[in-house]
Amino acid sequence: MSNSEFLTSSRTEELLPKYRAFLKEHLYPIEKEIIYGSFKAHLPQLNSLRQLAKKEKLFAPHLSESEGGLGLSLFEFAGISEVLGSSPLGHYIFNCQAPDIGNMELMHQFASKELKDQYLKPLQRGEIRSCFAMTEPEHAGSNPKHLSTLAIRDGDNYIINGHKWFTSSADGASFTIVMAVTDPQNPNPYQRASMILVPLDNPGYKLIRNIPIMGDVGEDYMSHGEVSFTDCRVPVSNLIGSEGQGFVLAQERLGPGRIHHCMRWIGICERALDLMCKRAVYRELDPGRPLASQQTIQNWIAECSASIKASRLMVMNTAYQIEKFGAKAAKEDISTIKFFVSDVLMKVLDKAIQVHGGLGITDDTLLSFWYRHERGARIYDGPDEVHKSVLARSILKPYMNHE
Ligand SMILES: Cc1cc2nc3c(=O)[nH]c(=O)nc-3n(C[C@H](O)[C@H](O)[C@H](O)COP(=O)(O)OP(=O)(O)OC[C@H]3O[C@@H](n4cnc5c(N)ncnc54)[C@H](O)[C@@H]3O)c2cc1C
Repeated sequence: MSNSEFLTSSRTEELLPKYRAFLKEHLYPIEKEIIYGSFKAHLPQLNSLRQLAKKEKLFAPHLSESEGGLGLSLFEFAGISEVLGSSPLGHYIFNCQAPDIGNMELMHQFASKELKDQYLKPLQRGEIRSCFAMTEPEHAGSNPKHLSTLAIRDGDNYIINGHKWFTSSADGASFTIVMAVTDPQNPNPYQRASMILVPLDNPGYKLIRNIPIMGDVGEDYMSHGEVSFTDCRVPVSNLIGSEGQGFVLAQERLGPGRIHHCMRWIGICERALDLMCKRAVYRELDPGRPLASQQTIQNWIAECSASIKASRLMVMNTAYQIEKFGAKAAKEDISTIKFFVSDVLMKVLDKAIQVHGGLGITDDTLLSFWYRHERGARIYDGPDEVHKSVLARSILKPYMNHE
């Protein structure tokens, strides 16, 4: 874990040990049974842990105090997010899990008072969950200006028709924010789409299936839905922000979201490194000759540790830049951490599995869960290649302007 004082504040100095203790006592002992078993069946147990988190004043660290949270800055929350990432249940228990956290941030800034009262407040209290439906199976999500989902005005309503997938956590959610085209003729493709809130008890909405991810269908919060909207009628007042603002809002939603994800990935890396070290010391090739005595294993441990430290500094610096200068000014840094840290995550998980040998690919450790479910890190929130291209173009710009 982080040992650099300049990465913490007096507030997080006080909070971090409390989060670590909570995870160690309440989540580490039960997490494997829940993630490899039925998430739904464990909801009562998970809900009582959420109540305990509230009682211990650790719930929703990202929200302001008036909203029932801890009023942390993005930089401070980043440190907490790393610790929570060390358990696959961490963010969920404290109600700061994706995609809800992104929807909370978005609605806080852009939703009407009515939508906030009806949907945002129960979401912040952890009474309901939400999802975000943008990606369509028929179009490249990497270039989301091509969308077929249409929201056509009919008096005071929109009628939405479309097909989405990778709508994470749709199973059991109460509403989704859907990205739909409201102005197909607009000459600027980035002004054609809008974000509209759709309650999921709407008769025009259907969860077609939970998409199997490397053999795991998942359920409830731990799932990725394929969904459809068929003549789905919602009031125009369910619009978030203004018409045509969909892409602007999507960018707003993603800036801090990348900090949350990257710090969660660093938390996973720390836990995987911890498991790797424990196994390397425990597993003996001959009596008195543990794996840890082999130079190759030592190299892997040192390289993983160095990559994790570099990642942490990079992400915390980006969080600082976002807070000081805004997400737009920190665009290149945000792209850099997205592809750099997701790559470190893959490498650390792979090495941790390798050190565990056959055990590493079983479901007897957390590693196989992360290997399956975090492979997506290099794809969601913009595939790595897109972010590398953003960064390289920015680096090359001054060179292009010279003779
Ligand atoms: C685990 C997970 C959770 C997700 N959750 C959500 C969600 O909640 N809501 C939602 O709406 N979507 C979600 N998504 C979808 C995600 O946003 C898309 O998968 C992503 O945008 C990529 O789109 P695509 O899958 O259509 O890939 P494509 O756009 O078809 O791209 C395929 C590949 O092409 C390459 N590529 C793409 N563009 C370029 C380029 N410019 N240069 C070079 N190579 C390129 C990349 O390697 C990329 O992986 C999720 C995805 C995953 C994996």
